[in-house]
Amino acid sequence: MSKTIECPICGGDVSLANDTIQGELIECQDCGTELEVTNLNPIKLAEAPQEEEDWGE
Ligand SMILES: [Zn+2]
Repeated sequence: MSKTIECPICGGDVSLANDTIQGELIECQDCGTELEVTNLNPIKLAEAPQEEEDWGE
């Protein structure tokens, strides 16, 4: 059985497996944002820190 939680970015549904662990990264199927599980009880998701891109300014 999996849990569904609201994506903090787009409000879409994100499915979490039952064995989800804190710190796990999950990609939102709706907006493609990488989300980090920051807390398990209650479940909280936050946008995962993006690696800095070198835009060569
Ligand atoms: Zn989303």
